[in-house]
Amino acid sequence: MADTLLKFLFRDAPVRGEIVRLQDSWRQMVANHGYPAPVARLLGEMTAAAALLAANIKFDGALILQIQGNGPVRLLVVEVQPPMRLRATAKLRQTAAFGAEATLQALVNPGGEARCAITLDPSGRLPGQQPYQGVVPLIGETIAQVLENYLRQSEQVESKLWLAADEQAAAGVLLQKLPQEGGAAALPDADAWQRVGALTATVTRDELLTLSPAALAHRLYWEEQLDHFAPLQPRFQCTCSRRRSGRMLLALGRDEVDSILAERGDVEIVCDFCNARYAFDAVDVGQLFAGAGAAQADASIRH
Ligand SMILES: [Zn+2]
Repeated sequence: MADTLLKFLFRDAPVRGEIVRLQDSWRQMVANHGYPAPVARLLGEMTAAAALLAANIKFDGALILQIQGNGPVRLLVVEVQPPMRLRATAKLRQTAAFGAEATLQALVNPGGEARCAITLDPSGRLPGQQPYQGVVPLIGETIAQVLENYLRQSEQVESKLWLAADEQAAAGVLLQKLPQEGGAAALPDADAWQRVGALTATVTRDELLTLSPAALAHRLYWEEQLDHFAPLQPRFQCTCSRRRSGRMLLALGRDEVDSILAERGDVEIVCDFCNARYAFDAVDVGQLFAGAGAAQADASIRH
């Protein structure tokens, strides 16, 4: 079963819906990270949610969903690059200790100051142009509740989310109430939002994690008429590279890099998302900084 994101409209209700299920891509995202089960669950729910949100907006660029925590988990990040290329990572504190049933609030927000941010970073952003970012406090017991609050505040759109994840799969459903034209008289069915919501609320965690989006849509909405869009195929893809790692070393500065070299013999950058390792020895570092110096000199001659 390929990873799929299904988008559809209810013909007799002013509601649009999306269902996503990630299996291969999600397994690649958690492979070799050894996340404790509650952390994998949180990150998986965020990953499914980020895919749903990215597919829901008309925007050419990256969507980044991030929670900055102050508990055992200090950072959760999911990036969606067009078209539906996902990567995700979680960072725990060294001393992190929590039970298998630890809640969202216990994991990231014991101090009550955690924040959830959604960033939209346009493709081909010009220098000086800022990405759009919306930030909300972490209100809610689940990722779904936090994001429902976010959508209500930032987009003023009534939205409902159902999310589930374990180490094997990450999945979710998003419903959004469409704005009505022509007032209440134009409504084909005034109870439609409640009806579709109630149908979706019957979904179980097991159904989310094991059924394909098409099978789940059929099971939940078999009495409804749906108009389907072409399904999307989310994939795991990391955007790290040796070149980007080199730029990180340049940003650290020569002195800092030289001191790491003196201590360890080489400098290694490990990607937080995919665990790729980029090693630079003394010769690499020399070439890197010489290249950067030449580029700088070149730029100053031209100016
Ligand atoms: Zn990577």
